[in-house]
Amino acid sequence: MAYTAPVNELKFLFDHVVGFSRLTATERFAEATPDLVAAILSEAAKLAEEVLAPLNRAGDLHPARLEDGVVRTPPGFAEGYRAIAEGGWIGLAAAPEHGGMGLPQTLAVAVNEMASGACLALSLNPLMSQGQIEALEAHADEAIRALYLPKLISGEWCGTMNLTEPQAGSDVGALRSRAVANGDGTYAISGQKIFISWGDNDFAENICHLVLARLPGAPEGTRGISLFLVPKYLPDAEGRPGAANSLQVVSLEHKLGLHGSPTAVIEYDGATGWLIGEENRGMRTMFTMMNNARLGVAAEGLGVAEAAFQKALAHALERRQGRSPLPEGTGAIVDHADVRRMLMTMKAQTAAARAIIYDTAVAIDLARATGSDEMAARAAFLTPIAKSFGSETGVEVAGLAIQVHGGMGVIEETGIAQYLRDVRVTTIYEGTSGIQAMDLVGRKLADGGAAAFALLAEIGQTAALAEASMPDLAAFLAAGEQGLVATTGWMLENAAPNDRFAGAAPYLRAFALVLGGHYLLKAALAEGGQGPRSQLARFYIRQSMIAHDPLLSQAREGARGVYGLSPEELAG
Ligand SMILES: Cc1cc2nc3c(=O)[nH]c(=O)nc-3n(C[C@H](O)[C@H](O)[C@H](O)COP(=O)(O)OP(=O)(O)OC[C@H]3O[C@@H](n4cnc5c(N)ncnc54)[C@H](O)[C@@H]3O)c2cc1C
Repeated sequence: MAYTAPVNELKFLFDHVVGFSRLTATERFAEATPDLVAAILSEAAKLAEEVLAPLNRAGDLHPARLEDGVVRTPPGFAEGYRAIAEGGWIGLAAAPEHGGMGLPQTLAVAVNEMASGACLALSLNPLMSQGQIEALEAHADEAIRALYLPKLISGEWCGTMNLTEPQAGSDVGALRSRAVANGDGTYAISGQKIFISWGDNDFAENICHLVLARLPGAPEGTRGISLFLVPKYLPDAEGRPGAANSLQVVSLEHKLGLHGSPTAVIEYDGATGWLIGEENRGMRTMFTMMNNARLGVAAEGLGVAEAAFQKALAHALERRQGRSPLPEGTGAIVDHADVRRMLMTMKAQTAAARAIIYDTAVAIDLARATGSDEMAARAAFLTPIAKSFGSETGVEVAGLAIQVHGGMGVIEETGIAQYLRDVRVTTIYEGTSGIQAMDLVGRKLADGGAAAFALLAEIGQTAALAEASMPDLAAFLAAGEQGLVATTGWMLENAAPNDRFAGAAPYLRAFALVLGGHYLLKAALAEGGQGPRSQLARFYIRQSMIAHDPLLSQAREGARGVYGLSPEELAG
């Protein structure tokens, strides 16, 4: 299915909205010059448009399946994966000493956005490996790094993450998988993990599982969890995969969408594993992978939103129904005000989500390159917003894309329904939207609101800058900023924990909407307040962002209302 990577949009965003040049100015990322960035974006676009997009439908029609204990992937996925690996895309942001390119994470996110828009099911595979690479770089000892990283970076081996168990979903601390020391530096891992994305495949030489398990006598909850690297085949010292480890994919899930990605139940039966990081500190170690994956999942939502928008626009330009209300109209449904409203909403919200996601990525890179605590706090605050709003945008825009298609939207042959089915899980895995919101109002406000208020001050500055050229939009944005200042204060000063949690999701959404207004107004200012970006900012701020006000009222309602009906009354 045709997909056009948004290369020009990304270049504009990097240059005028999220300040990519600040990365090039650091020693670590000095090589990421405008020329190199342009070359990477256009090569990644080629991969997405020419290699990955044609695989998307096959992944839906021919789901990954389990045959005699072996996972068989959809037609063309092996070749698509090879193209990703051979292009060096998996190790774009990995350290050069083990074969990576050492480029900013921001560029890896751009590649992931394009790959997700082209073929979400396949793109999830390298995303898992990238998270594992980052976790091993940060926490594994040198022997493990030297053995595993070159293989993961080259794509010869794939990585997975294993947290979930039947009784341990959002509550990872409830996991029961066990690890016992073998006495030779290795551990025997036993237990069942479920929902493991790309738990196996038929194109990589080895699959490396990062598995959370509990050592004997470890404390209850998340404080007693350790992290282990458990390969499918035990490698020798030269990295040649040898004997099969004691683990098995016992089944694959039948899902709403994302059929091309095998979602596995894996049984570990005394499998040999190596401890990564310290004993009982596994959650901390895994968080490196999870934070990487959260931004990756945000980019998944964004990629699908862009792809679904493109398809909806193409349909709206072709389908003719009714008389055009415009004197110089095209005669197609794109002329109708309500269809145009949907298309503008889709384009504007996608642009807002994109800016939030890349600002988060730049903050991560700047924190790494400069050691700035301020940037690290900014990245930590923005990550749950990016994850939740990015994935929710994928779902909402894909839903609107179906609406623009009318009845054809629910006919599978058009391919538009696949976007909604595929992207639906992104608001669930890597921490549901609800868990992201609780993280935002819990841990991420635990600094007394410092990171939140720093961002809000920046939003206020953008409003001030726009006062002369776009006074109405500046006033709307300033009102959003003030509303968030007040509600953040309420969260910090007045609210009991469960009152905060009851308002967490609307608070996160309001923050995302106002951040979106800030970035879109910056883009409008960059083109002098006149032109298509200014029109988009105008529509977004006046028609989408204004929803912050009722959302913030809802956020301050506290928990009483949501408990207004008892479980029995809910059923009544
Ligand atoms: C296709 C797919 C791929 C996946 N890939 C992986 C993978 O590769 N590796 C892996 O380890 N896992 C994976 N998962 C698991 C995924 O991360 C979990 O499904 C997710 O974390 C939610 O857990 P759960 O399904 O048990 O839902 P639950 O935790 O049961 O949540 C149900 C609902 O309750 C809410 N909820 C739960 N606890 C709280 C709370 N304390 N406060 C407020 N609300 C709460 C949730 O937000 C949600 O709305 C995958 C899942 C799917 C469907």
